[in-house]
Amino acid sequence: MFFKGRRMPGGRLVKDGKLFPGSGVLCHTFKWNPGAPALSPGGNRSKVNLEGDTIMNFGRRGLVGAALAVGALVKAGADRIISPAHAEPVVAGPVTLPELPWSASALEPVISERTISFHYGKHHRNYVETANTLAAGTPYADLPLVEIVQKSARDPAAAKLFNNAAQAWNHDFYWQSLAPKSGGQPGAQVSAMIVDAFGSYKDFHSQFVEAATGQFGSGWVWLALDRSSKKLTLVKTANADTPLTGIGYAPLAVLDVWEHAYYLDYQNLRKDHATQVLDKLLNWAFVEKNLEQA
Ligand code: MN
Repeated sequence: MFFKGRRMPGGRLVKDGKLFPGSGVLCHTFKWNPGAPALSPGGNRSKVNLEGDTIMNFGRRGLVGAALAVGALVKAGADRIISPAHAEPVVAGPVTLPELPWSASALEPVISERTISFHYGKHHRNYVETANTLAAGTPYADLPLVEIVQKSARDPAAAKLFNNAAQAWNHDFYWQSLAPKSGGQPGAQVSAMIVDAFGSYKDFHSQFVEAATGQFGSGWVWLALDRSSKKLTLVKTANADTPLTGIGYAPLAVLDVWEHAYYLDYQNLRKDHATQVLDKLLNWAFVEKNLEQA
């Protein structure tokens, strides 16, 4: 559940005052629990799997002004406060927006809650909804996501559907590739495979970071199993491209190197972002699970 742990029993609008990191400006974050009929005039009670969130900057008006503004906004009704992109149900269809495997702030300080809220709540959500809109009324609407990706990749008329469906799948895989208090050296089995494929963990690390920084423009860097050699390898894909469309590589973990994945936290320093993720977030347990199934 997005923003797990902040939802109020019974469903109420929740505000929590906090200083936005680095800004010194008082902000309030409002959380919406869709289970609250009294504050749900827009009919957003059902099928909502993402809690609404918007951040309001009260600038220099201070606590009193902020409190007055909060009161006025609450009185004006929930749908005046919640950004529509978060408050409305995901467009229905064959592609779903899976829940995040951790709370939105769990990856801090490497990846901020703010980045996650945009990346998951806006970008990932948009891929899901666009794919569902494009699939509606076509044979794709009856297929599971993996088959949509694989079939649309071979259908020139479905290029836009492929881009959005592949991005939906890639992001689902990406969230699972990250975990709090992870990264660094993997366990014995994967460490041995890394030494076999790259020479040492240090060499693997530098090649991964080099792949992340060397991918021109937007794309992904995959740790994958080469199915023919049975060795680990690094695969770069551009834009929405995914190993799912080929048979040569089994994806084990992925790093998103689109700017939206890191720009709020690292600006242009993609290398620093890749290094931090490798050192602190790469989910080796997910890699091990994928190796068992590869
Ligand atoms: Mn992304």
